[in-house]
Amino acid sequence: MGVRTVIIGGGAAGMLCAALSASGGADVTLVERNEKLGKKLYITGKGRCNFTNCCSPSEFLNNVVTNPRFLYSAVSRFSPDDVMELFESWGLRTKVERGRRAFPASDRSADVCDMLRSALRKAHVRVLLNTRAVRVLAEDGGVTGVEVLSGDERQVIPCEAAVVATGGITYPSTGSTGDGYRFAKECGHTVEEPVPSLVPIVCREEYIREMQGLSLKNVRLTFLRKDREIFSDFGEMMFTHFGITGPIVLSASAMIGRSIGDHDIKARIDLKPALTEEEFDHRLVRLFSENPNRDFKNVLGELYPAKMHAVIPELSGLDPSRKLRDITREERRAIAEVTKNLPVTPTALRGRNEAVVTKGGVSVKEVRPGTMESKLVNRLYFIGEVLDVDAFTGGYNLQIAWSTAASCAGDLNARQ
Ligand SMILES: Cc1cc2nc3c(=O)[nH]c(=O)nc-3n(C[C@H](O)[C@H](O)[C@H](O)COP(=O)(O)OP(=O)(O)OC[C@H]3O[C@@H](n4cnc5c(N)ncnc54)[C@H](O)[C@@H]3O)c2cc1C
Repeated sequence: MGVRTVIIGGGAAGMLCAALSASGGADVTLVERNEKLGKKLYITGKGRCNFTNCCSPSEFLNNVVTNPRFLYSAVSRFSPDDVMELFESWGLRTKVERGRRAFPASDRSADVCDMLRSALRKAHVRVLLNTRAVRVLAEDGGVTGVEVLSGDERQVIPCEAAVVATGGITYPSTGSTGDGYRFAKECGHTVEEPVPSLVPIVCREEYIREMQGLSLKNVRLTFLRKDREIFSDFGEMMFTHFGITGPIVLSASAMIGRSIGDHDIKARIDLKPALTEEEFDHRLVRLFSENPNRDFKNVLGELYPAKMHAVIPELSGLDPSRKLRDITREERRAIAEVTKNLPVTPTALRGRNEAVVTKGGVSVKEVRPGTMESKLVNRLYFIGEVLDVDAFTGGYNLQIAWSTAASCAGDLNARQ
């Protein structure tokens, strides 16, 4: 009989690891606290599941924010190309969209879940649903079992290997409530403080709420610490009732999340990044001289979306009823300043219920990068989001789950 292995967590990482290790000969029990497998996987990519990014391993590592070097061997061993090949060999039809994002051809994340469930069945993985792991048991530096709870019934599943694939702390309604961090700590591991990442940002300004629902394409968002640039990105963002969100805001949260709320961090939005301040001023001069008798408020529509029409005069200190012929060079400069540097003050990250991933987790210093095995306890493994690794959006976070799962399965198979 193969190595008795308990995999804790039937999410992306746990399911793939279970299927691969069982098909390689391990005797695998997959323990999932929910009534079904892959609850988070179902909601990924807005229900379409952007399951990887078809880039090279080195481009993949460029998109990992925390501890990319740790993932070098895992992604070299099981790359995005390998994921595509494996999933297609398991019957999933795939497609690649803008930015090399890979999806199931059906646009249904359920197809990825079904494919994994079918792989588990074929590999004869024992799946225990509605079963929550409560403790990993270890003796003499090696794993001896996993204690689980199903309803009121507590039992120990004896095993020689345990894989912690419990995910992070975000979207806890999908089952990821941070249990894996406790198992890690109880086994002597260091856990870097988990915080939400790829998450909207709360801002102080009242005028942001006036613009809620407004989505801006092609703007530049820059974060500064004491006037020094610490993050800048170009793309799409949105104003909400609490602050800002959208792709470039989520990326900012991943890069500087832990510092958000520090009093010396400020942000600026350049609403016209294609124009220099001088070019924008020329545009104003032309517009104002062509319409000398119109009011400022009546030409705002030519420069800004409707939801900004109250905010721009307010912030540039200009009476919206001012005739364009009367607007001075200084006043034009104030309009340009607001347009090129709309100020926003980030005060906090939104909570874990809205975050796509967790930053922080089991310290990678105590985990072997080639196999995901603990350096402290033999045959204890950590895979997926429970590790202190996180990446930008675009399929990279699921690739982390697949690559770490495959590395672990490879080791379990090699040690049969
Ligand atoms: C809304 C949303 C959209 C996303 N979209 C994408 C996307 O399109 N592309 C992308 O790359 N990434 C995306 N992500 C991120 C991606 O889903 C995660 O990084 C990935 O699911 C992590 O996989 P995992 O297996 O490590 O953890 P999870 O998928 O969270 O799985 C962990 C599993 O462990 C189970 N569990 C936890 N504790 C226990 C316990 N004590 N006993 C038994 N079971 C337990 C949980 O119930 C859960 O099923 C998205 C995330 C969210 C929230």
